[in-house]
Amino acid sequence: MQGGCFCGNIRYEIGDGEYLVANCHCTMCRKTSAAPFVTWVVVPTESFRYIQGSAKLLQSSDKGRRYFCEECGTPLVFLAEERPTVIDITTGSLDDPERYIPTKDVHEESRLKWLHLNND
Ligand SMILES: [Zn+2]
Ligand SMILES: [Zn+2]
Repeated sequence: MQGGCFCGNIRYEIGDGEYLVANCHCTMCRKTSAAPFVTWVVVPTESFRYIQGSAKLLQSSDKGRRYFCEECGTPLVFLAEERPTVIDITTGSLDDPERYIPTKDVHEESRLKWLHLNND
C-alpha cells in the first residue's frame, strides 16, 4: 500500500497487514491538520518506508514528532516518544484510504461536540 502528499513530492509505502486504526480528537492533531480530527493507521516502524522525498519535522510537543510535506503541507506521519516501535500514518494521505477502517476514538475529551461518526 502506498501513499503520499498532495503535491506528489513525498511518496511512502507500508507493508500489507491488519493495523490499528484510530480517530484522534486531540487539539494538536486538529490544529496541525486544520481538520476536525485525524484518522491514523498505526504500523510497525519497520513496515514503513519513504520511497520518494523526505518529510519536514515538526516537533509538536516534547513527546511527539510530526512530519509533513514542506511544499504542500500535507501531514503524513506522527512519532510518539512513548510508542517507539510504531509509526502513525495519516489515513487521508494513503492512495486507498478505504482500506483501513477506524475502530477506535482517542482523546474524546477534546472531541468537537457537533461531530458525529458512523460508528457512534
Ligand atoms: Zn507535498
Ligand atoms: Zn492527536
